[in-house]
Amino acid sequence: YNVSELRRLDVAHHLPAQSSYRLQQQMGGSRIITRAEGSTVWDAEGNAILDGMAGLWCVDIGYGRAELADVAREQMLELPYYNSFFRTATAPAVELAAKLASLHGGALQHIFFNTSGSESNDTVLRLVRYYWALKGQPERSIIISRHNAYHGSTVAGASLGGMSFMHVQGGLPIPGIEHIMQPYHFGDGFGEDPEEFALRAADALEERILAIGADKVAAFIGEPVQGAGGVIIPHRAYWQRIEAICRKYGVLIVSDEVICGFGRLGRWFGYQHFGFTPDIVSMAKGLSSGYLPISATAVSHEIVETLRATDDDFVHGYTYSGHPVAAAVALRNIEIMEREALVDRVADDAGPHFAEAIGALADHPLVGEVRTLGLIGAIELVAEKGTNRRHGKGGAAGPVVRDACIARGLMVRAIRDTIVMCPPFVITHEEIDRMAAIIRAALDEAVGTLAH
Ligand code: PLP
Repeated sequence: YNVSELRRLDVAHHLPAQSSYRLQQQMGGSRIITRAEGSTVWDAEGNAILDGMAGLWCVDIGYGRAELADVAREQMLELPYYNSFFRTATAPAVELAAKLASLHGGALQHIFFNTSGSESNDTVLRLVRYYWALKGQPERSIIISRHNAYHGSTVAGASLGGMSFMHVQGGLPIPGIEHIMQPYHFGDGFGEDPEEFALRAADALEERILAIGADKVAAFIGEPVQGAGGVIIPHRAYWQRIEAICRKYGVLIVSDEVICGFGRLGRWFGYQHFGFTPDIVSMAKGLSSGYLPISATAVSHEIVETLRATDDDFVHGYTYSGHPVAAAVALRNIEIMEREALVDRVADDAGPHFAEAIGALADHPLVGEVRTLGLIGAIELVAEKGTNRRHGKGGAAGPVVRDACIARGLMVRAIRDTIVMCPPFVITHEEIDRMAAIIRAALDEAVGTLAH
C-alpha cells in the first residue's frame, strides 16, 4: 500500500462516519486498516492492533473466516440479488428467517429483513404505529426510550436514541418519542442500593406512561445492556420491573439486540439473560459478524396476526431486505457459532476469564468501577478513588487512556470517561490477559498525564 497516498485521498475525498472532519485533516488522514485475522487487525504501516471492540461491536466470530467468503462467492454466482417486493423471496432469506425464529423460540416467529441496525429500528417505529392503527387505536403512537440510548443514526434511529448531542444536529427527535432515565447506577445512583436504584429507574417508565396517558403509548424500546451509552449493565430487577409495567398498561416491549444479540452476554439474546419476553427484537451486527450488512426485526405472532387481518400492504421495505448473499453469509455465521459453541464459550470460558482479568483493574487509582457481562465491559475513570467524581469537567480522562491503549496496540473506545470493550468471541485467554496488561500500562501513564 502507498500509505501516504491513501491518507491524502482520505482527507481529500472521504468523510468518515461519526467523525470530526477538522481532526481528520489535522491528523493528515485516517489510519488505514488493511487486513485482519482472529482478533487482530493490521494497519497499512504494518502495526498489529488487538481488536478489543470486535470492529464496531460486531465481528463476533473473529476475522479471516474463509468459509464466509466461499459462501458469498457461491451465492453471488447462483443468485446475487433478488427482492421480496413482487410476492417473491429467495432461499437464503427464507432459511435465515426460519433459523432466527428457531433461535428465538416461543413467541417471536416472524422476521423482517433490513440492512442495518438503524433501519431495523425504523421498521420498528413504523410497524408499532401501524399495528396500533390496525387495532383501532391510532392515537397510541408514542414510543418511550431512554437517555443515552443508541438506536442508530437514521432520522428514526437517532430520534429513538437518547443522545442529546445527536438530537441537536438535524432537529431531532421527531415527534412522538420520549426519553426516561437510564439505569446507570455508577453515574446516577452512586451510593444507592443497586436493586433499589434499578427499580427506581424502571418505575420512571410507569410515571411517564401515566403522565402521557397509557392509551397514547405504543411501545418501550431498550437495549438489554446499553452499549454506546457506556455499557450500562442493569441490575436483574430492572428488566423484570420494566416488563411488568409494560404488560400492566399494554405497552409493547422492543428489545434492541443489535449489540447484545448472538451471544454477547452469554445467551443467544440479551432478553434471555435478563428473563423478559419482548414483542419485537432488532438484530444486526453479530447476525453476520459484520462480514456483510444485514439486520433483522423479529415480530410476535400477535402482531403478525393483526397485520394478517387486512389485505392492505405494509408499505415498508428496502431494496436489500433479505439480500440473498448477506442472508447466506449470516446463516453460515450462525452455523459457525453453533459448531464452535461460541455462545457457551462466552458464558463459561472467555467471559469469566475476561471478568477476572479486566475486573482486576478495579484496584487502580484511576478506576472507579469495572463492569463486565459475557464479553462486554466498561471501566469508569475517576479523579478520586471511592467516588464517581471525574477529572475536570468530565470527558478528559477517557480519550487519554484510549489513546494510550491504541498506541500500545489495543483498540478500545472511550465514551467520555468510560473505557468500553467488546472483543470477538474467539479471543484467547492470552489475548485477554494482554488487553488487561495494556490497559493497566495505559492507566499508569494516564495518571501522570492527567496530573498536569
Ligand atoms: N442499535 C444499537 C443498540 C446499536 O448499538 C447500533 C449501532 O451501534 C444500532 C442500533 C445501529 O446500527 P447500525 O449502525 O447498523 O445502523
